[in-house]
Amino acid sequence: MTCHVAVFSTQPYDKASFELALTDTSELTLHFFEAALSIQTCQLAQNMDAVCIFVNDSADAQVIATLASMGIRHIALRCAGFNQVDLEAAQLHGLSVSRVPAYSPESVAEHTLALIMTLNRKTHRAFNRVREGNFALNGLQGFTLKGKVAGIIGTGQIGLATARILLGMGCKVLCYDPTPDSALREEGAQYVSLNSLIQQSHIISLHCPLSPATHHLINHNVIAQMRCQVMLINTSRGGLLDTQAVIAGLKVGKIGYLGIDVYEQEAGLFFHDHSDDIIQDDLFERLASFPNTLITGHQGFFTHEALSEIAATTLDNLQRAAAGKHHADTFMV
Ligand code: NAD
Repeated sequence: MTCHVAVFSTQPYDKASFELALTDTSELTLHFFEAALSIQTCQLAQNMDAVCIFVNDSADAQVIATLASMGIRHIALRCAGFNQVDLEAAQLHGLSVSRVPAYSPESVAEHTLALIMTLNRKTHRAFNRVREGNFALNGLQGFTLKGKVAGIIGTGQIGLATARILLGMGCKVLCYDPTPDSALREEGAQYVSLNSLIQQSHIISLHCPLSPATHHLINHNVIAQMRCQVMLINTSRGGLLDTQAVIAGLKVGKIGYLGIDVYEQEAGLFFHDHSDDIIQDDLFERLASFPNTLITGHQGFFTHEALSEIAATTLDNLQRAAAGKHHADTFMV
């Protein structure tokens, strides 16, 4: 029996990667919508069996109750993080939820390195200067990464890949994770307390999930403990940073470099072209105005390899859900 799936927040590259991964024998029919899932757009999933969503769709309790009343049986996340889904509500209404726990963690780790290296060696500024015939080096000075202390908060798939790259570059790698990775320890990383990591690191990179426990993990008090001119990198989820506190840290020079791929209020801003709009988010505009801030629009995952793995795992999850055969690794409810 064919399973109809409403795919929300569809971008052209999503459609292309799903269509490439769909086989002729698949019993899935995908219906692509550009709109993000919200209480206003739930009705697009009328007569469907499942929905497929991404990082800035909202599957809160109200949305889930509405989807359940329409006969939706499954929510397939085509991402790793699941902070946008109310899992309790899903369980209450009998909806199963799947995600893609690991899809090329190296893609996000390598983007993390791109942020670190660009902020440090200022290649984005050098590119513009050289194109204008300006070969002056003033303002482009960086630091040698070898020997610096890099703190990794969260050493799951992505944190582990990031730690390995930084170890390879000669950094001293400090880690904090409630569940330490013994292989990483053997490879030369050191697990320390969160306080110790915050106080010692020249570079701090966040790779833990967003949850009530990690919301605003980086706040005024934590920033006050950091080294002066620390480099702060967040490719995980925007809500890990208290944006106001980070702006205050940048203004006094406590934070010397900020590289973010995610932003607390990114929904409605990221993944769309707003180049002709007046952006109304003053916090975002203030962040973007600092010369030592580098912001990318949630593109850490965006490689050919990751997209094809996301499509393959999501389709497999949808097929399993339709057949009632849940997979322990990818199903959360
Ligand atoms: P993962 O589940 O493999 O690892 C998360 C790790 O964080 C685990 O080891 C866990 O023990 C640890 N952790 C949990 N609470 C913690 C805390 N309070 N302090 C420190 N560590 C804690 O996840 P992953 O695949 O490595 O992904 C990490 C995050 O990256 C995801 O939650 C997601 O939000 C984000 N992500 C971003 C992109 C992007 O494109 N920028 C892509 C994929 C994932």
